[in-house]
Amino acid sequence: MAIDLHTHSTASDGTEAPSVVVRRAVEAGLHTMALTDHDTTLGWREAADAARAHGIRLVRGIEVSCSRRHQSIHLLAYLPDPDHPALVAELARARESRDTRLDRMVGLLAADGIPVTVDSVRAEVEEGATAGRPHIADALVSAGVVQHRDEAFVRFLGNASRYYVSHYAPDPVRAVELVRAAGGVPVIAHPRSVTRGRVVEDALVEELVSAGLLGIEVHHRDHTPEAVRHLTDLARSLGVLATGSSDYHGEGKLNRLGENTTAPTVLEAIEELASGSSVVEQ
Ligand code: AMP
Ligand code: FE
Ligand code: FE
Ligand code: ZN
Repeated sequence: MAIDLHTHSTASDGTEAPSVVVRRAVEAGLHTMALTDHDTTLGWREAADAARAHGIRLVRGIEVSCSRRHQSIHLLAYLPDPDHPALVAELARARESRDTRLDRMVGLLAADGIPVTVDSVRAEVEEGATAGRPHIADALVSAGVVQHRDEAFVRFLGNASRYYVSHYAPDPVRAVELVRAAGGVPVIAHPRSVTRGRVVEDALVEELVSAGLLGIEVHHRDHTPEAVRHLTDLARSLGVLATGSSDYHGEGKLNRLGENTTAPTVLEAIEELASGSSVVEQ
């Protein structure tokens, strides 16, 4: 009865179409999966159709990009209303800023003689999908500059790189409030990940709980055993849910479906707390 609540498709920076991610989830033996593309609900419909066809439960979600003082913070939103005007507007604003930021990063890379163009990067992004650094990485792979996404991040695209440009994203307090207003269940994603620069400090998690945060993604590949213990205690002391997930990106990352999972009782709580949309049943 494995439950994996964090996956990406070609609606953002995953490498497989939503229907393919659903099929892979079935093959991986999952009972329930969430599709949580960055800043978009574009993949929801295709994933829902596939979930019904393949007999798996689908939790519709979003991974909302947030930012505070140049720190990038990710917020998972489960079962929000996809038509909530303020949430829709905020996601669109972030996606638009991601587009201009992509162009700026490509400009910096090209100016340094790295063979990449806006067109070659655009060719890696599905129509309407959320553009991100992984798509620049894919263009660099296609051009034969690097072997895989990770090498592109290490050499050119990391947060400390001279080519890095940030994009607009809402403050996490505002994002938590928006997700709640849209009837969704906000869960802070991988707060102790060190692969992304700074960790999310406990004080900020506490501030977000005061704003309406309902859970912490505890079990995640980027968390050390010590971090898992710490976050388990933090979730318990703050009285919020503790989830676990793979953060699957297809072939774009090593993360495998079902490598971290969420307890059935926690999913039940998420379903009870949500009022924006429903779980797609088989
Ligand atoms: P962006 O949202 O455009 O700033 O890009 C961040 C995304 O890049 C994250 O959501 C990850 O999916 C991906 N990413 C970060 N580091 C790596 C890496 N080393 N290898 C592959 N993908 C990565
Ligand atoms: Fe990603
Ligand atoms: Fe994330
Ligand atoms: Zn993710």
